[in-house]
Amino acid sequence: MAIPFNKPHLTGKEAHYMYQAVYNGKLSGNGEFTKKCQSFFEGRYGFRKCLLTTSGTDALEMCAMLCELQRGDEVIIPSYTFVSTALAFLREGAKVVFADSMKRNPNLDAETLESLITPRTRVIVPVHYAGVACDMDAIMTVAKKHNLLVVEDAAQAVDSYYKGRPLGGIGHLAAFSFHETKNITAGGEGGLLVVNDERFVRRAEIIWEKGTNRAEFFRGEVNKYGWVDMGSSFLPAEINAAFLWAQLENLDEIQDKRKQLWQRYYELLQPLSERGLFCLPDIPKYASNNAHMFYLTLPDLDTRTALIRHLKENDILAVFHYLSLHSSAYYADKHDGRELPNCDRYADTLVRLPMYYDLSIEDVEHICKVIGEGVA
Ligand SMILES: *Cc1c(COP(=O)(O)O)cnc(C)c1O
Repeated sequence: MAIPFNKPHLTGKEAHYMYQAVYNGKLSGNGEFTKKCQSFFEGRYGFRKCLLTTSGTDALEMCAMLCELQRGDEVIIPSYTFVSTALAFLREGAKVVFADSMKRNPNLDAETLESLITPRTRVIVPVHYAGVACDMDAIMTVAKKHNLLVVEDAAQAVDSYYKGRPLGGIGHLAAFSFHETKNITAGGEGGLLVVNDERFVRRAEIIWEKGTNRAEFFRGEVNKYGWVDMGSSFLPAEINAAFLWAQLENLDEIQDKRKQLWQRYYELLQPLSERGLFCLPDIPKYASNNAHMFYLTLPDLDTRTALIRHLKENDILAVFHYLSLHSSAYYADKHDGRELPNCDRYADTLVRLPMYYDLSIEDVEHICKVIGEGVA
């Protein structure tokens, strides 16, 4: 039997809660399950205000709208990320300034930030790659000095920490994803906007509700509601929130199992990494590991291609990840020409191994044995 790269996990309660949502008679968004999910995040992590969205991309788009950018305002984003990180800001008329990754891991290199800041810079968007924290103290210090907003792309970073502080709770705003490839899912697609800065709370609710102040009306704060601002339809239906609720109830168990698998990969692959055949993932001292991903970096593109092929021949699906956004078909001619060598290196050499809840320790042992034969 082939080992896939990813497989969404079912806790067993999803269908039950979805059934309940349907028979509650409230199918649209912002019902009982949506509120339960939002309260879970606000309670467990101390996030000021949480709003469920239909995707992580949508949550990023809400962040970008909340930043109130003017055409030509600049937003600093790592080039080694998913398209949505950049797209959300580009749609608001921003100019995206791509930053390089660190040498040690794919996260944005905070040391290069100062050199990228101009009088037009408004926002920095750190992406916590593989759920491993960016150096948030360094990033927040630069942001404060230049009066910039920080939007965390925490799409992969559920239940992960920076110096004990939950990711998604440090920047002014943050976005999580519950796509089926993430640690927990809202039934395929889903996301969460986190508002940490009080200034954005009211407007976030309005944008979420198609530019209306309906949320205030439902709370009895105003006696009628109407069109007061920009907005769109960002709420997921209740059946998606119900699915997510089943996953949230089992979050600790899901995280524990993923961490065990991750740890086993690390132990078994360490001897090969010590022989210089590849590098293991880097978790800085300030960062926790939420076991979103297990990746290796190979010496070059050819050795990576050979390893992926070798694994495929043995029915194991391993996949590379992002292509540098600064040299993408859509953005290459808009990029300012700066070289981003660390980003390009990760684009060429990083490979992700199978990682999902239903993977067994025996599967991991088998995969590591096949890797050993492939790189020897
Ligand atoms: C998954 C992901 C997104 C997009 O989330 P969706 O829910 O798929 O829209 C954005 N940024 C990063 C870093 C991601 O990993």
